[in-house]
Amino acid sequence: MATKFPDAPKIGMVSLGCPKNLVDSERILTKLRSDGYQMSADYAGADVVLVNTCGFLDSAKEESLEAIGEAMAENGRVIVTGCMGDEADLIRAKFPQVLAVTGAHQYEQVVNAVHDASPPVPNAFVDLVPEGGLKLTPRHYSYLKISEGCNHRCSFCIIPSIRGDLVSRRIDAVLREAEKLVQAGTKELLVISQDTSAYGVDTRHDPRQWKGREVRAHMTDLARELGQLRTAEGVAPWVRLHYVYPYPHVDQVIPLMADGLLTPYLDIPFQHAAPSVLKAMKRPANEAKVLDRIHKWRAICPDITIRSTFVVGFPGETEADFQYLLDWLDEAQLDRVGAFRFEPVEGAPANALPNPVPEAVKEERYQRIMEKTAAISAAKLQAKIGRVLPVIIDEVGEPDEEDGSIGATARSQADAPEIDGNVFLRDVGEGRKAGDMFDVVIEDADEHDLYGAPVQD
Ligand code: SF4
Repeated sequence: MATKFPDAPKIGMVSLGCPKNLVDSERILTKLRSDGYQMSADYAGADVVLVNTCGFLDSAKEESLEAIGEAMAENGRVIVTGCMGDEADLIRAKFPQVLAVTGAHQYEQVVNAVHDASPPVPNAFVDLVPEGGLKLTPRHYSYLKISEGCNHRCSFCIIPSIRGDLVSRRIDAVLREAEKLVQAGTKELLVISQDTSAYGVDTRHDPRQWKGREVRAHMTDLARELGQLRTAEGVAPWVRLHYVYPYPHVDQVIPLMADGLLTPYLDIPFQHAAPSVLKAMKRPANEAKVLDRIHKWRAICPDITIRSTFVVGFPGETEADFQYLLDWLDEAQLDRVGAFRFEPVEGAPANALPNPVPEAVKEERYQRIMEKTAAISAAKLQAKIGRVLPVIIDEVGEPDEEDGSIGATARSQADAPEIDGNVFLRDVGEGRKAGDMFDVVIEDADEHDLYGAPVQD
């Protein structure tokens, strides 16, 4: 039976006022989209309407109040944000039924209010952000969405039919958002989209001015510019690329990793390795030389972490195809691997393919791929024992009841939040907080995680 696709809540947005307000609206929508919300073009289709107000002049206030009144009349479930949100009493006196009022630049509050009014529906088949990420991401890492939709038509995927073809955001808007995030304390940017390497293909890599230079809507330009951002304290944030397909120009970002401009990490959803399965899946950038390229990338940037996901039991996958995948993994030595058993999703063309793989065979293949990739991961992590690595703290623990020592959960550059492993730290000392970055010495490892302690000065 095909898995039914849950309906995502829809958000309507009315944005008033100056260009700055528009940027705020865009940021709020980007966050909501990455939380799985869809946009509604009209009041009627929206589960919640956001009115981003302007309160600069009396005429603007009047216009804002009119817009709130219209949204109340047409929909009735309204959240007010923006400059006029600072006059919550006035708004509430006039419209007691508004669901929430938040002020200008209060992104987290407004996103929280939307979550309360219409909770997001996690959907493993289309969400770019892992389920845990549906909570507001802590301030020290942020998802940066660069485009919507996808031009490919992978046979197991329903995203293009739901989200449409690729629509890339303007590069200057993306960079402005990233800059604001970094200024607000983000230490790690996670670049997401359905197909990050295709960024700008739809806009012919539309060039824009940014800091006095021309930058194109292109993954390489984006990566180079993001790598130059600095926090208020002058710290270079980590910049991680997700959902990269191995088009030829991916080769251009590897030197940026080697130069420290970009976190040496690539998330490439290969899904399979056997040519016949990839063909049936209609995967993009499906080419035979990928193994050679992985070897070349490692020669340029030996510390690169390659993460991928694979599907086992795709219709028509033979034992020989599966064995091909296992052999390929032996050769590719990927650092991080997630595996899934093929599952038909309602509306996906792959459901109609011949020769479905029996559940028991899927399960057996799943166990075999998990065993293989866990062994590769364990060996790779063992090799890190004794090394000094930079980490970022996600969470600091409570002092130990007996000796007062404090531990922390951190990640190295090889670990994307919520999907990869952790570096568990002992004795981090007092005063450390989430988002702190420093060097640690790795003392131990298991299949997925590392253990260590801060380097003593
Ligand atoms: S590349 Fe394929 S799997 Fe990814 S969103 Fe596009 S169609 Fe779906």
